[in-house]
Amino acid sequence: MIREKDGIHFDLEDKVVADSRKARGDVNFVSHAHMDHVHRGENPVIASEVTRKLAEARTEKNIAAASSESFELIPSGHIIGSTAAKFGEEKEYLYTGDVSLRDRAYLEGFEPVSADVLVVESTYGIPAYRFPDQKGIESSIQDWVQDNDRPLFLFGYSLGKAQKIQHIMQEATERPIVAHGSVKNMNNVVEEVTDLNFRAKPYGENKELLEDNAIFIGPSSFARNDGLNKFVDKVDGLKAGFSGWAAQEAFKHRGGYDKTFPFSDHCDFDELVELVEKVGPEEVYTHHGFDEAFASYLKKEKGINARALKQNQSSLTDF
Ligand SMILES: [Zn+2]
Repeated sequence: MIREKDGIHFDLEDKVVADSRKARGDVNFVSHAHMDHVHRGENPVIASEVTRKLAEARTEKNIAAASSESFELIPSGHIIGSTAAKFGEEKEYLYTGDVSLRDRAYLEGFEPVSADVLVVESTYGIPAYRFPDQKGIESSIQDWVQDNDRPLFLFGYSLGKAQKIQHIMQEATERPIVAHGSVKNMNNVVEEVTDLNFRAKPYGENKELLEDNAIFIGPSSFARNDGLNKFVDKVDGLKAGFSGWAAQEAFKHRGGYDKTFPFSDHCDFDELVELVEKVGPEEVYTHHGFDEAFASYLKKEKGINARALKQNQSSLTDF
C-alpha cells in the first residue's frame, strides 16, 4: 500500500515515510531541503549529507542521520543535495522526490535506474509543458542580460533556482549583483556545504547599485511587492521570471514580468515520460501537479499500470 498523507507513506514490512513534515515511519526519508519537504520531527532521517546540512541550517535544529544500509540514494538533479531513494526487498521501489533529467548550471540531471514500483512527481505532467533545450535557455538568459544594460530584477525560488541564475549571471557579466535577504541566506548555506561561491551583495545596504546597472535576485513572491515595483519603475528596470510555468503565457502576467524564461528544476512532460520508460516499472504512482492527467496518459498511451496518489486513498487493490 502506498498512500499520500503528510508525505508519501509506504506500508512495507518497515513503514517508510518520505518527505513528511512530521515523519512517523519506522524509516523516514527526506529527498531535498525545500521547506515543504523538510522534516520537523525529532526522528533521525535518511537523506544525503548535503540535504541534512541544508535542512539543519534552515530549521536551526540538529537532524540526526539514520542508517541507510537498505536504501540506495541517487542524485535526483532537482537542487543541491537532492536524491531519489530505491528500497525494498521482494519488490524494488523507486521514489524520485522532485526530479529533473537536465544538466543545469552546476547541477547534473537524474539518471534513472530500474525498479518494479515507481513513485514520481508529476508537476508538469501534461504536453503543454515542454521546455526548450537547456543550453539554449541558459544562453538566451545571458544574451538578454548583455543586451539590456540597465537595472535588471530577476525572480526565482530562493533555494535552488536563485543560485543557478546567479551562477549563469556570474559567467555572463561583471556587473554588480545584489540579493534579497532570503536568497542571500540560502547563498550562505549553499556556500557552507558546497564549493560554490556567489558574489551577490545584500540588497538592503546596496540598493543604490540598482540605480545604475546592477542585477537583483529575489524570491518569486517578492515580484508582486508594491514597494519593489515602484522602485523598478523609478530606476527604469526590467523584471524577469524563471520557472517551468513560464511555458504558459499566464505566468508572465501573474508576476508582472517583462521577460520570462522556462527554466525549471523539474522534468517537463517529455522528460517525465522518458523517466518512466527508463525505470521500466510494473506500477507507477504520480503525485503533485498534473498527477491524474499524467497517470491516465501513461495508461492509455503507454499501457503502463499507473494511477495518481490522492490524500488518504489506498491503492494497489483499486488499480
Ligand atoms: Zn523541491
